[in-house]
Amino acid sequence: MNDAKNTSSEGSAAGPFSPRPLTAAMANEVERLLSGRTRDIRLTGDLRGRFEERSWRQTSKVIRSWMTWVAFVDVLTLALNALLLPSDVALSMVAPACLLPPAAIATALIWRKPRAAAVLRASLLGGMCLILLSVTLVGVFAGGEFYERHLTIMLFVATSAITIFSVPLAWTIVIACYALSLYFILQWYNPLVEAGSVVAGTLFFSCGIIATVVARRTMNILAQKTFLLDCRDQRRNAELADANARLERLARTDPLTGIANRRWMMETLEGLWLSGRDTGVAAAMLMCDIDHFKALNDKLGHGEGDRCLVKVAGIIQSCVRADRDLVSRHGGEEFLIVLPDVDEEEAVAVATRIRESVEAAALPNPSSGVGPSVTLSVGVALKSVRDTDISLANLQHEADMALYRAKEAGRNQVSVFRRQHQAAPSAPIAARRQG
Ligand code: GH3
Ligand code: MG
Ligand code: MG
Repeated sequence: MNDAKNTSSEGSAAGPFSPRPLTAAMANEVERLLSGRTRDIRLTGDLRGRFEERSWRQTSKVIRSWMTWVAFVDVLTLALNALLLPSDVALSMVAPACLLPPAAIATALIWRKPRAAAVLRASLLGGMCLILLSVTLVGVFAGGEFYERHLTIMLFVATSAITIFSVPLAWTIVIACYALSLYFILQWYNPLVEAGSVVAGTLFFSCGIIATVVARRTMNILAQKTFLLDCRDQRRNAELADANARLERLARTDPLTGIANRRWMMETLEGLWLSGRDTGVAAAMLMCDIDHFKALNDKLGHGEGDRCLVKVAGIIQSCVRADRDLVSRHGGEEFLIVLPDVDEEEAVAVATRIRESVEAAALPNPSSGVGPSVTLSVGVALKSVRDTDISLANLQHEADMALYRAKEAGRNQVSVFRRQHQAAPSAPIAARRQG
């Protein structure tokens, strides 16, 4: 459906419409066109390709319906003429009338699928040429009153096509010129009409057809403007969605370490608890706290303290299951970890791995009371599927208690919180210091 000069986008007319994001150049072109006068809007290049891609479905549907309808009316008229008119007149109409249905149906079939613009153009203009010729020749062959009547019907058919076919203006002008020429030439040879009357009639119908072509042009421009406004909306919506996504990311991320923040963790856990209210969820909560972190800050400065926090956050993340476990910076030098669907043995194994990995990283903390490098204490609280009455706040409190005990017991260790009814395997508080 492109003009011949715009062959590069002919192929794009073939695909169904998809709201692909506009390139920066296309977005600039949209703004440039919308900032000018509506009547100056001319889509070119990729933008024109997108427009035709989007309007293809509707244009093709309208053209196919029109072709089918015209073929149907032609056959119906022929049948009525056979019933109502003298047989010799009706018979004289058969041959030219038979030209129309194949031309219309062939055009409709070609316009079923997106094809190269040259094929679509040739089929539409060729189809219209045969259809208008058929209508005209029916009158010419029947003669008498039918001669002029069918020329007028032919102009009516052409006008309806010009009005509803949303095709490039050049194609519309070709159809208009062809219809008027056909009218003028065949009227000229109409024995019942004088030359003056032919010229007057042609001028009269020319005015009507020119008005229709101008209206068609205005509709084309307005359709292009609507498309440009849609493009602008689409781009603005995409920018808005992007900004919202960025804001949301910022709202749930700890700016220093890049891991999730406390707010996100608590919202996620509340959701998890709510969804597991009936069936219960099994989970372990690990509260980690860097030992003597204040001393690190005091000795090496806050910059070094910040770098330490980033490294510890990375170590913790590398010790958990990326697809299931949740890690957040709970505040200051504390990290909260939630391990869904784990038992005590697995939870302690993860906690120990984290503690050992932090110790093995040998990040300096010269003033720590534990040793020369950064260490971490971990409090573990567990909830099995049977513990349906344990609230999120309870579990967090238990993890805090376990952490407190790990600190009390000398730091750099893992401590598991035990409820009264739980039997401790080795000691009231399973505080394991390894290393
Ligand atoms: P403990 O072993 O008992 O946990 O001792 P601690 O020194 O680690 O704990 P305390 O609560 O006394 O000190 C925590 C310090 O963490 C105090 C605060 O200045 C520091 N801190 C909190 N947030 C940040 C941060 O974002 N960057 C840095 N560099 N320091 C922070
Ligand atoms: Mg602390
Ligand atoms: Mg601390």
